[in-house]
Amino acid sequence: MVSRVIPVDPFDLVIFGGTGDLAQRKILPGLFRRFCAGQMPHEAKIIGAARSDIDADGYRDLIRAAIAKFGGEQACGDAQLDAFLARLNYVTIDAKGEKGWADLQKLMAGKGRVEAYYFSVAPSLFGDLAERLQKWGMADSQARIVVEKPFGRDLETARTLNNTLAAFFEERQIYRIDHYLGKETVQNLMAVRFGNMLFEPLWNSQYVDHIQITVAETVGVGGRGEYYDKSGAMRDMVQNHLMQLLCLIAMEPPARFDPDAVRDEKLKVIRALDPVENHHIARGQYQAEPCNEAENPGYRTAVGDPRSRTESFIAMKIHISNWRWAGTPFYIRTGKRMSSRASEITVVFKDTPHSIFGEEAGRHRNVLSIRLQPNEGITLGVTIKEPGPGGMRLIDVPLDMTFADALGSEADDHVDAYERLIMDVIRGNQTLFMRGDEVEAAWTWTDPIIKGWEARHDVPKPYDSGSDGPTDSSEMMRRDGRSWRKGSNEDV
Ligand code: NAP
Repeated sequence: MVSRVIPVDPFDLVIFGGTGDLAQRKILPGLFRRFCAGQMPHEAKIIGAARSDIDADGYRDLIRAAIAKFGGEQACGDAQLDAFLARLNYVTIDAKGEKGWADLQKLMAGKGRVEAYYFSVAPSLFGDLAERLQKWGMADSQARIVVEKPFGRDLETARTLNNTLAAFFEERQIYRIDHYLGKETVQNLMAVRFGNMLFEPLWNSQYVDHIQITVAETVGVGGRGEYYDKSGAMRDMVQNHLMQLLCLIAMEPPARFDPDAVRDEKLKVIRALDPVENHHIARGQYQAEPCNEAENPGYRTAVGDPRSRTESFIAMKIHISNWRWAGTPFYIRTGKRMSSRASEITVVFKDTPHSIFGEEAGRHRNVLSIRLQPNEGITLGVTIKEPGPGGMRLIDVPLDMTFADALGSEADDHVDAYERLIMDVIRGNQTLFMRGDEVEAAWTWTDPIIKGWEARHDVPKPYDSGSDGPTDSSEMMRRDGRSWRKGSNEDV
C-alpha cells in the first residue's frame, strides 16, 4: 500500500519557545518528517522565537543537533535536512517586553498565507503573546494559535485563560493541543466505532460489562519533579488525556466528522459524568527502587518534598449517567514507575446470556483492546474450541490487527502525534483539538475531587516501583468481581 500525502498550503509557522525542550524533541523533528514526506510546500517558513541571543545560523545548528538526537534524521538524507533547515529562521524576542516584535513582523510573509503561532512556552506567557501579536498586527482573522497543556490548573484558571485568549482571538483560531488525540489509534478508535456496523449495536450497557483505560509509564518524574508536584496525575493526565480517551470511547456518533459535531458529543459525555465517590478512587506515590535508590529514588525524594501529598498514581471508577452507559462502569488508571509502559483501552463485553457448553467450559468474554502504545493496534478476543479431541473445551484467541502487520510499510511510515496535529493546524481542522467549553467542563468535574483531597489532607498510599500501583487499586476492582488487565492477550 502506498501512503497518500496531500501537501498543505504554504504557511508561516512561528514557534514561540523554539529553543525549548518540546520544540527540540517533538515539534521540529516532526516538521522535518513532514518535509521528508513531501507534505510541506517549498514556500513554507518556520520561525523559532525565544529570548536566547542566537542568529538564524545558530538556530539551524541547534535544530540540526536536535533532529539528529531525536530521530528525525532517519526520515531522509542530509541534502533534505539542509533543504529543511534553509526554511528555518529565528528571532530573539521577549514575550513580556517589546524586544524582537518588529523583527518578527518583518519576517512574516504578509497576507494570503496561513499564519500559525505555536505557544510552546509556559502558560503564564500565553496572555502576553496573544496581546503582543495583536499589538503588532499579527492577530488578524487568518491567524491561528496553538496552545500547549497545561490549560489551567483548575476551573478558575482555565476560564481566565480562555477569556484572555478570547480577547484577542476567536475560538475558531485557537488550537488547544492534546497530543493523545493525534495518535493514530485514537483516530482509528473513531474509524472502528463509526465505520463498522459490527461494534456500534453492541456499544452500550446492555452488552458491555465495563471499560478500562490505562496509561502507565515506567519512568518516574525525572527532572520535572518541581512542576509535577504542583499538578499530580489527576491534573497532568486525567483531566486532559484520559478524559479525552473516555470521551471518544463513550460519545454518541456525531452527525459528521467535523470539529463542532465531534466536540459537541465529547462535551455531552463530560457533562454526564457522575461525581466520583471517595471509595472509588485509589491514589498512590511510588517508593524508591530497592537497592537502587540513588538512581531511582522514591517520589518524595524526587520532588524534594518529604511531606508531599501529590499523587503519582490514580485509579478511579467512573459512571456516565446517560441512556447508553447507565450501569457500565469505566475504570481508569494512570501512574508513574509502573510495571510496564502501556496505553490501552479495553472494552470487556458481557457473558453470553446462557452457556450451552456447561460449567466446565469456563467463563469466556469477548474483549476489544485498543493499544495506543507500544505496538499501536486493535485486538478482539474471541472464544473458539480448543483444537483436538477430548470434548468441547473453549479457549480465547486474539484476532489481532497490529497496524505494522496489517498495513506493512504504510504503518512503518509512522506519523507522530505532534506532526499530524501541526498539519491539522495548517489545514485549519480543529477536530482533534479541545474546545474551550470542553476544557472547562473537564475542570468542573475534576475540581471537586481535588478540593476534597486538599480539604481532607488526603495522603496517597505508597506503592512499589515497578508494580501496578497501590493495593487500593486492585482492591477496588476485586470488590466489583473484576481485575485490571495486564496486556492485550490476557484474560479478564
Ligand atoms: P522549556 O524547555 O522550558 O522551554 C521554554 C521555551 O520558552 C524556551 O525556548 C525559552 O527560551 C522560551 N521562553 C521563556 N521565557 C520566554 C519569554 N519571556 N519570551 C520568549 N520566550 C521565552 O519548556 P518546554 O518543555 O519546551 O515546554 C513548553 C510548553 O509545552 C509548556 O507549556 C509545557 O507545559 C508544554 N509541554 C511540554 C512538554 C514536553 O515534553 N516538554 C509536553 C507537553 C506540554 P529562552 O529562555 O531562550 O527565552
